[in-house]
Amino acid sequence: MAKVELKGVTKIYDGDVLAVEKSNVTIEDKEFCVFVGPSGCGKSTTLRMIAGLEDITAGELLIDGELMNDVPPKDRNIAMVFQNYALYPHMTVFDNMAFGLKIRKMDKEEIKRRVNQAAEMLDLTTYLDRKPKALSGGQRQRVAVGRAIVRTPKVFLFDEPLSNLDAKLRVQMRAEISDLHHRLQATMIYVTHDQVEAMTMGTKIVVMSEKRIQQIGEPLYLYNHPINKFVAGFIGTPPMNFFTLKIAEKNGKLVADEGSFTLVPTEEQAKYLKAYVGKEVYFGIRPEDIHYQTAPAAENNMQLKVTNKEPLGAETHVFLQVKDSNIVAKVAPDVVLQLGESVNFTPDMTRAKFFDKETEINICEPNIEKKW
Ligand code: ADP
Repeated sequence: MAKVELKGVTKIYDGDVLAVEKSNVTIEDKEFCVFVGPSGCGKSTTLRMIAGLEDITAGELLIDGELMNDVPPKDRNIAMVFQNYALYPHMTVFDNMAFGLKIRKMDKEEIKRRVNQAAEMLDLTTYLDRKPKALSGGQRQRVAVGRAIVRTPKVFLFDEPLSNLDAKLRVQMRAEISDLHHRLQATMIYVTHDQVEAMTMGTKIVVMSEKRIQQIGEPLYLYNHPINKFVAGFIGTPPMNFFTLKIAEKNGKLVADEGSFTLVPTEEQAKYLKAYVGKEVYFGIRPEDIHYQTAPAAENNMQLKVTNKEPLGAETHVFLQVKDSNIVAKVAPDVVLQLGESVNFTPDMTRAKFFDKETEINICEPNIEKKW
């Protein structure tokens, strides 16, 4: 059992550097919770406060309901896996994994049993006598994970553990860590700047930006219901497209005008956009929700110039000019479009998002679940 709760957790470093502002998160037992956000948003600081490597300036950290703020790291029953593996170069794989147990004066036979069991789980059995320099990056990372497993901690913390691996190995290790989570049934907290890692591994994602939590939810919930423009643009590849539209009323009907084309919001969206008549809003649409048309559609037709294309095999990304910038649409690989050609596309308005130009809040979904 390990439930981790952050209540109003704030970190201010020496010299008045605000790193984390009033974080409220509940990480349930056995959850795989990923903190994701751009560099400098406060993810690592959050993790280091949970580990006890940084003091908490304000707020409370609870593990299984017990206040942890002043409990030393070694007594928190937490194991952390670092980006740089932090292995001892002069020790063998066995000794690296056993080290934490030896200093706790654990029985030798028990140490052996635990290390062997972890080595088997991580496919390291044949490498136990090697030194870290004789291992590949992926194997080193597995030793670092093994060192955490042998301690049977309540909570595993991972700080960007895959950043030093090449792209192919990252994909493999992603699956291995997810599998490990499944097998160990442990609470894991994972920090990354890579939204693909967050989407593929997390059972819960905490999106951070500018030292604050922006949204918490399951991966697909965040993808489909982003609370603001930041989350909408951060989750998903290629990212959501944004451009500005002006809300107007034409013949009693609400429309969103780009200048060269006009879009008609759904009835549900119109209810919320009424308050914006005469104002500009950000329009957001994902690349897979902009559909190529062989002939102009009667409604919501966007005639746009093709500025670039990227054939990826299974699909092609087409870049289309909207005013001075480009948006991306995904088309089937057999659709052949010429550079410079003007073609017709239609956004699926049921999938479209509208954001307030000042607050950047998602205008038409005011009832998004707030779990923080
Ligand atoms: P992330 O992990 O999201 O990249 P960090 O938690 O490392 O972000 O950093 C959050 C903010 O705190 C940044 O502005 C960073 O410069 C600052 N920061 C991090 N560590 C320290 C430190 N030891 N002293 C002062 N400021 C720090």
